[in-house]
Amino acid sequence: MSARFDLSGRVAVVTGGNGGIGLGMARGLAEAGAAVALVGRDEAKSAAAVAALEAEGARVIGIRADVADAASCEAMVETAVRRLGGLHILVCNAGINIRKPPETYTAEEWRRILAINLDGTWNCCLAAYPALRDAGGGKIITNGSMLSLFGAPFAAPYAASKGGVVQLTKSLATAWAKDNIQVNCVLPGWIDTELTRRARRDVDGLDRKVVERTPAGRWGVPEDLAGIAVFLASPASDFVTGTAIPVDGGYSAQL
Ligand code: NDP
Repeated sequence: MSARFDLSGRVAVVTGGNGGIGLGMARGLAEAGAAVALVGRDEAKSAAAVAALEAEGARVIGIRADVADAASCEAMVETAVRRLGGLHILVCNAGINIRKPPETYTAEEWRRILAINLDGTWNCCLAAYPALRDAGGGKIITNGSMLSLFGAPFAAPYAASKGGVVQLTKSLATAWAKDNIQVNCVLPGWIDTELTRRARRDVDGLDRKVVERTPAGRWGVPEDLAGIAVFLASPASDFVTGTAIPVDGGYSAQL
């Protein structure tokens, strides 16, 4: 392992790390040597993910937290620091979507999407900041979407939340550069997870449209996000901050 990408002795918290993209990113971080806390609400899912990474030789724990709740995020950071000995990397990946025409959302549905995707990122970043600063610096990776760039008729609140995540990322990057904290966003293309399996049920023809529009000619898999997670969590990216990087098989490069 090149020292530039070596995460030995680093501790990472990955929200939504018990499945999908979060687990793919956590797997990359663990392979590069980080100890990892997988955060989610579903404890059975977290236990299975912890067992899977442990079997691959990782030092890993599960933490139950709800990112929509600021106090829960503070407790999450406290638990990671206490059980794993510090905090150097935060991956704000937890997210949800509800797909329907904009005029049919209830106020509660709008609030729930924003509360998890945008408030949740904010809550985790604020909770982690003192630990990252006191460690002499750190890395925050947020999770946007193709809907940080594009609109869609079936995802107005989600697109609003993911556009907000990019602007939040840029603002935190400018504020916390003085603390040697780099903050970057990844913009996944269409990745095969529980979230998008539901999308394929809800949106007619989506499966085919994604394959046709993606220059790579396929859906992504969660492990396609492992490499970018390691890069953005490692010394290799120390002069990279405030960016939003597509990991999309070329989807956003194609008219
Ligand atoms: P999944 O539905 O597979 O995973 C979502 C994760 O978020 C789960 O681990 C879930 O854990 C966790 N989660 C949801 N709500 C909360 C909460 N309130 N507090 C803590 N954890 C929570 O989705 P993906 O892996 O596909 O998505 C992960 C991220 O990537 C999301 O932010 C999504 O918007 C983004 N994304 C996904 C794309 C895709 O194509 N799949 C494309 C672009 C972006 P639990 O159920 O245990 O709470």
